[in-house]
Amino acid sequence: MSDYYGDVKFHLDQNKPSAGDAGKEDPEEQLHVSASPERSSSIGSFPISKQRGKSRTKQGKDETTCCVKPVSDWPLLGSAAYPSPAVINLNNPGCEQALRIKGTGKILQGKAESNGNCGSRNVQETHSREDGCVCSLKRKPVTVDISKAKTSLEALKLSIKQLKWKEFPLGRRAACDIYWHSASFHDNENIISGQVNKFPGMTEMLRKVNLSRAVRTMQELFPEEYNFYPRSWILPEEYQEFSTQVCMVKKDATVNPTFIVKPDGGSQGNGIYLIRDLSDLKLIVGSQAKRAVVQEYIQTPLLIDKLKFDIRLYVLIKSLEPLEIYIAKEGLARFCTEAYQEPSQKNLSHVFMHLTNYSLNVHSGNFVHSDSQNTGSKRTLSSVLFRLAAKGVDIKRVWSDIIALVIKTVIAVVPELTVHYQADIPPGKPGPTCFQILGFDILLMKNLKPMLLEVNSNPSMRIEHEREVAPGVFEYVPSPVDEEVKVGVIRDTLRLMDPFQEKSVSSRVKGGACEDEEVDSELQSRSRDEMGNLPSLCLKQVYPKYTKQFNYLRLVERITALFIRFLGIKGNMRLGPTAFRTFIRTCKLSNFRNFSMASVDILYIDITRRWSGPAPNSKETGMGLQAFVEAFFYLAGRRFKSLVLREQTVSLLELCEAQLGPHSNEERRSLSCSRALPRTIKTQTLCLSNPQLNSAAP
Ligand code: ADP
Repeated sequence: MSDYYGDVKFHLDQNKPSAGDAGKEDPEEQLHVSASPERSSSIGSFPISKQRGKSRTKQGKDETTCCVKPVSDWPLLGSAAYPSPAVINLNNPGCEQALRIKGTGKILQGKAESNGNCGSRNVQETHSREDGCVCSLKRKPVTVDISKAKTSLEALKLSIKQLKWKEFPLGRRAACDIYWHSASFHDNENIISGQVNKFPGMTEMLRKVNLSRAVRTMQELFPEEYNFYPRSWILPEEYQEFSTQVCMVKKDATVNPTFIVKPDGGSQGNGIYLIRDLSDLKLIVGSQAKRAVVQEYIQTPLLIDKLKFDIRLYVLIKSLEPLEIYIAKEGLARFCTEAYQEPSQKNLSHVFMHLTNYSLNVHSGNFVHSDSQNTGSKRTLSSVLFRLAAKGVDIKRVWSDIIALVIKTVIAVVPELTVHYQADIPPGKPGPTCFQILGFDILLMKNLKPMLLEVNSNPSMRIEHEREVAPGVFEYVPSPVDEEVKVGVIRDTLRLMDPFQEKSVSSRVKGGACEDEEVDSELQSRSRDEMGNLPSLCLKQVYPKYTKQFNYLRLVERITALFIRFLGIKGNMRLGPTAFRTFIRTCKLSNFRNFSMASVDILYIDITRRWSGPAPNSKETGMGLQAFVEAFFYLAGRRFKSLVLREQTVSLLELCEAQLGPHSNEERRSLSCSRALPRTIKTQTLCLSNPQLNSAAP
């Protein structure tokens, strides 16, 4: 399979020193706490315009009853360029039920005490090699607090076992090296060292409305590069724009668009419905106006065996600054369970035809739990790619388009995350560093262009599925497909986050682009020495590897650096009117065309009011990042009228950065998320010029 994924190569170094007693247990007692370009962007009817283990239990169904038809039925065959993987959406964030897994008994949920100690040191003895690489001779196992892992628990335990690390199911009095949370950074408070598998603010950032907004900002700056996200409107705020668009499109009798309405904060397909008419929109639920995203429905997805499917891809954000992104080479393909037809008034409500969510389709009589990874309603991504490749599809092209989609999406969400990060873990305050596995849901269109549906901050890491053993009695049985994919993702994330490993890997990063083959090689050799023969890494580094191709997109991060600089008080996430005035004055923006301070105040009030109005549960007042970005665009447009928005923005950024002096970049780095960084990786910077590179897929 690795051929499909570009140039990844893993070299095993046989000459590493052996780890000695790596498996020795830490005498620390566990706490006893009670349980606990890219193709055409045309979607559906109109184009995007520039707008802001093996199954250990026999299943009830035999493989032969599978609704999946032979490959010859696949409509794309013989057509052009792209393959079509399918994605799986298995979100179940926040699910708190205790697992009852056959043969394993009930799992207790632990409650961790706050850590009294800072930074336990695992490495007992180290020595430096001539090349500067630190190598371990003897070390204690890496410690992992798994007391908050909830539904990830089984996959996590298997991963830790494979790595020969040490788990703490009930938490630990001393600090652990790694904390595994199920939902949020705040699952476990008072962590002052180590690494947590969630970023502060990620859940909020990836809610449907916020993600749509972040992508839209990027679409305004880079419409071509961000045409992988369906055109979307946020309701109720943008109802007027949406209705105008619908009326306009309907004037053309040949076009009959369909829209998909998704409640904000929803998951697993809950509350989602299709509409063709404005009157079908349910804006009020009960007596409340519900926030939602309404989106162009992609009417021509790629089909396999006449079925719609989507791809669940796992992506690791290893650090924010410098930005490090890894993509899992193996993912899941989730299939619908009713043959696909283009939407019509008759079939709009057929969820098994239009929605690929596992959580919905599992209730269909046609759902096939398969023992094999390449049949049934949930399959491995590689099996789907393999099948497409066999039909002559250019898998490398698809894969590189997917990589580009992932990098661009992460670049869109990093600014807001950075603001959360500096507020929750301000520089100078003790705290852990963060990493996170995200679940990208991607749909391949018939022309093989990947489209982003959503990003899940808490992708399901369950490796079991529910089975009815007697009427009304359910139990969890292992799911081989899930186990194959998810254990690999968790295990290799841990390998990459190994606190000792990070040092040696960091020491090999040069010139802003980490040579991932060296990283892989390092990990492989360590694997052989200390952990037995582990499979090669399933996570492939894509950033900073492809920095050159994508760095020019990181403009909003530079605006964010200005925003953070003027926030002032630690922990703040909103700019007050005085701070906004200071920004204008310091950057000398009021000198141009008599932009008086009174006008500055009016701008502040106007934009802040519009943005804070619909903000849910926001107790804070002031100007948030998105409002600041809008104000920045306004100022840039006013100053550089003749240019397009992207050029206006770059010009104003250069002007502001020049006013703030030569140290602004360094300051920005320390202001944002310096503690997330391996100190040795300091060379990757945001582009300050405007290389105008094409975002050619890597
Ligand atoms: P949820 O978080 O509730 O799963 P998604 O945005 O993932 O919400 O949508 C659920 C499912 O609906 C997707 O898995 C996909 O099958 C389908 N879907 C979502 N958006 C679109 C779209 N724009 N066009 C076509 N199908 C879509």
